[in-house]
Amino acid sequence: MANHDVIIIGGGPAGMSALIWCYSLGLRGVLLEQSPELGGQMLQMYHRVLDYPGLIAESGREMRDHFAAHLDELRLDYRTGCKIEEVNLRERRARCDGQWLQARSIIIATGARKRRLGIPGEDAFEIRGVSFSATRDHSLYAGKKVSVIGGGDSAVRNSLILASVCPHVTLIHRSERFRAREDWLKQALENPRITIINNSEAKAIEGGDHVERLITEDTRTGEIKTIETEGVFIRVGVEPNTEMFRGQIEMDDAGFIKTDQRQRASVEMVYAAGDVCRPACLSVATAVGHGAIAAKDIAMKIQG
Ligand code: NAP
Repeated sequence: MANHDVIIIGGGPAGMSALIWCYSLGLRGVLLEQSPELGGQMLQMYHRVLDYPGLIAESGREMRDHFAAHLDELRLDYRTGCKIEEVNLRERRARCDGQWLQARSIIIATGARKRRLGIPGEDAFEIRGVSFSATRDHSLYAGKKVSVIGGGDSAVRNSLILASVCPHVTLIHRSERFRAREDWLKQALENPRITIINNSEAKAIEGGDHVERLITEDTRTGEIKTIETEGVFIRVGVEPNTEMFRGQIEMDDAGFIKTDQRQRASVEMVYAAGDVCRPACLSVATAVGHGAIAAKDIAMKIQG
């Protein structure tokens, strides 16, 4: 016997939206978040948020506070610090703190995390010269010579932010062509403080107490180069938090969950919402929309 209509796994914007929509639609929803607090990737948005209609926030954390207050106002059932030990999607149940929760449907809203390079020095020098966010850390590197790795919007944007406080920024991209927005790329190309190196792969980060060098390899010639640098910013995209669902549901090659337009995944009454299903636009707005669509479809199925 299901004790909930919907188990929502993940407490980022997609999960929080799904929980609110479950309430509006008369569904008994419970949200399980493994971290001690709600918010997911919102907690890593260190910039002013200007693109969410009706709500300008100084940071993702402030925005999260508004979302969480909404959940509290409606007295919704969410559990933080709730790490899922086991999940059975086909049977729509999940075990958390030794207790099985059973539902009629599951919404997976576990989001994505920043991809790491997996090269020597990346872990060892984290917070000693390796960073994953220029928005948060740029002031720590003011006046220093830094490098950024990546070729998408994040890497180019991070290079521009760093160039506002650093005398020299080297942007290292493994491919020939960038994926970043044309206008940002143009700004980077025209910025005298930014040097762009294409077709170059980071191989190792080295130093003493702090980062001192980045070792790269030219992908065409194999030539190894040493770049003197005091900071390495890694922005090479995101990867989904889907390890616990592997083998139970259809995913793409990168592990993002495949869904249809109603956010339905390949298992009956299982849905995915937000960054975990690789939306065309990674954003809080998209995640919120996905949560609503999933809850609406579940309500239509359960309530007829
Ligand atoms: P992205 O667009 O997926 O680009 C990732 C970049 O990292 C690619 O250029 C890729 O190179 C490179 N890369 C991946 N793995 C690598 C590796 N192992 N070694 C070296 N390079 C590697 O990721 P993103 O820039 O983080 O952006 C993620 C999403 O957020 C995008 O949808 C983006 O539009 C969005 N975003 C939006 C804004 C905004 O304000 N509008 C700001 C930031 C991000 P290849 O091209 O060679 O594969």
